Amino acid sequence: MKVTRIAYSVRLNPGKCAALAEQARRLGRVRSEVWQRYGSIAGVGSGLTDRQVRDRWLADGTHLQFGVLANAWKETVRDAMADIAANLEGAKVQVRRAVTQRTDDPAERKRMFTALKADQWAGDPFLARQMRKHWKRGRNHTLNQIVVRADKHHAITDARGRLWLAVPGLERRKMVRIPLSTTAVPTGTLRLILRGGRVEVHYQIDASQMRSSQRPCGQRTIGVDKGYTEALTDSDGQPHGVRLGMLLASESDRLKERNRRRAKLRSIANNAALRGDHAKAHRIKTNNLGTVKRDRQAARHRAKMRTEIFTAVHRVVDEAATVIAEDLTKRFAGRKTLGKNMNRRLAAWTKGVTAEALRNVSERRGSALVPVNAAYTSQTCHRCGAFGRRSGDRFHCTPCGVVWQADVNAAINILHRAGDPDIALHTPHHTVKQILQDRTDRHRTRLPVQDSSPAIAERRANHPNRSTTSNQ
Ligand SMILES: [Zn+2]
Repeated sequence: MKVTRIAYSVRLNPGKCAALAEQARRLGRVRSEVWQRYGSIAGVGSGLTDRQVRDRWLADGTHLQFGVLANAWKETVRDAMADIAANLEGAKVQVRRAVTQRTDDPAERKRMFTALKADQWAGDPFLARQMRKHWKRGRNHTLNQIVVRADKHHAITDARGRLWLAVPGLERRKMVRIPLSTTAVPTGTLRLILRGGRVEVHYQIDASQMRSSQRPCGQRTIGVDKGYTEALTDSDGQPHGVRLGMLLASESDRLKERNRRRAKLRSIANNAALRGDHAKAHRIKTNNLGTVKRDRQAARHRAKMRTEIFTAVHRVVDEAATVIAEDLTKRFAGRKTLGKNMNRRLAAWTKGVTAEALRNVSERRGSALVPVNAAYTSQTCHRCGAFGRRSGDRFHCTPCGVVWQADVNAAINILHRAGDPDIALHTPHHTVKQILQDRTDRHRTRLPVQDSSPAIAERRANHPNRSTTSNQ
């Protein structure tokens, strides 16, 4: 398993920065050309590999127009072809869904899935039509990246202990040296992303090298509920990642305040422009409405929240060999209502990171992650199964007459879902509701009826099974 690491440049001089930006811009043209030629049905449908594309370009001289070194454009072609392939796979997911809706016949489904997988949809009118519908021609929007092959970069540490990464520039044998903020040498294929006047060096390492991967997992089976106040609550009632709520609230407040200030500045700039004071308008736009600081602050905040979530998952895996969790890959909004100030996009982001952390940490530390259908797990009582009422962080169950801590109740329900004989991962929402409803009805008929006459109560007590079987 691979994980991505990012190193940042520190105090990169403007000349180098401009040279790298120019290289990235030219390579962006290479990407655009690749998308233009091979990013549609006709292109990849003909089954070209990135190597074949390179050979064609070398033969017809396409590469000469870009003004970059051979290795740089070749790596870029490879990267862009991989992007196109990913785009194509995305379309196929939707086409597969359409196939499932079209036919119930297993043989027919299999025939179409196989044709799709082998990129041979063109012969089948239905598949061809669906592919045309779902595979929109993509366009390149990447103009700030340079991909550097593993053998084309090296790093040196200077006398003061600073690490310098040397990467190829626009001229042969003239490397550009980038001072980095880390002492860990980036390895393998590098992706340099130029953002906000600095260079981000993205690279992948094998997760087994990470220290946290060596930590053994626990031995128990634990259910977890994902939240926004705490990252996770487990079925023992233990919260993990308790700072998440505070971090989310402060980030949400910060965004709101910042957007308010920026809107005000923008209106001042616009008014100045209307008055004819273009100098002032320009000054505000460049000095006060830039994106460098904004993006860096956002990145810093996101990193803090990621750490909180990952730490929470590690704590759970310390105890667990098996973690039962809601299937977080599902696209619908989720079971949790958001706080008043919580930004919807922030919530979606948090959910994505939690899903990633659960997958990633489980895989690295050898615990099993079992996704379950979490429908109604926050609305039913874990003890009697009845639907209850949730208010804030409390859950009231009327039949039990008990108030549970809502997240703990949900986590225990999630734990039980793993062994549920009737509710599978993809059982539809309304079916789950029906199953739960039936269970509580059945359960209730087994209980003595309080307001009935003594004779009936006695008969029920003597034949406890009759009333339940007759209801089934
Ligand atoms: Zn109950």
